[in-house]
Amino acid sequence: MKAVMTIELTGRQEQILTIVKDSGPITGEQIADHLSLTRATLRPDLAILTMAGFLDARPRVGYFYTGKTGSQLLTEKVKKLTVKEYQSIPVVVHESNSVYDAICTMFLEDVGTLFVTDKNSALIGVLSRKDLLRASIGKQDLEAMPVNIIMTRMPNITVCYKDDLIIEIANKLIEKQIDAIPVVKELPDNKWEVIGRVTKTNMTKVLVDLSHDQLI
Ligand code: ADP
Repeated sequence: MKAVMTIELTGRQEQILTIVKDSGPITGEQIADHLSLTRATLRPDLAILTMAGFLDARPRVGYFYTGKTGSQLLTEKVKKLTVKEYQSIPVVVHESNSVYDAICTMFLEDVGTLFVTDKNSALIGVLSRKDLLRASIGKQDLEAMPVNIIMTRMPNITVCYKDDLIIEIANKLIEKQIDAIPVVKELPDNKWEVIGRVTKTNMTKVLVDLSHDQLI
């Protein structure tokens, strides 16, 4: 259990948990007596254990153990994360831009996926690294080839919204076997404006934050 706890508990916090598990509901005063400490000394530890979800406190009853393991608390946290907390800035090219320009943009902006928009800034396509590689294999003139002939186009684009749950979008990345999903906002006429992107890198950040107990 320890390995998946979100918070490394101190020895004293572990002791408090044991006392509450064995004797809860129990008041702060009584816990302090068990440990031969003052109530004031324990206050920060009780606050941490309550905020982290290990303990619950009821007025006039005292502290009791929620029964939730570290991994259950972690799961609850992860399931609340939304796209807007982890999304990155999108990199967009215009549909008339050449494949050559798109390759340059991909290098300059250091991203793996570009989104393609029309003259009204509506999303019409997606360009991945492999799309650009594939177009570069032949002997075509890449400067004369517009991106809109090689992109994956609407309506086959997987999109998400800023309030979507990050775990659902992570699932979509796996299910669809893609690296990035544009975050969109509705425009009139069933069109979408691109306002962000969620990539496998963002998902890796979630994992790292989790291990540091630094979920946004
Ligand atoms: P790569 O081709 O570099 O492995 P992906 O796995 O992301 O990158 O892309 C695979 C294919 O899926 C490409 O043809 C790309 O155009 C398409 N694709 C990428 N992202 C999306 C998306 N959000 N919606 C629909 N198709 C996508």
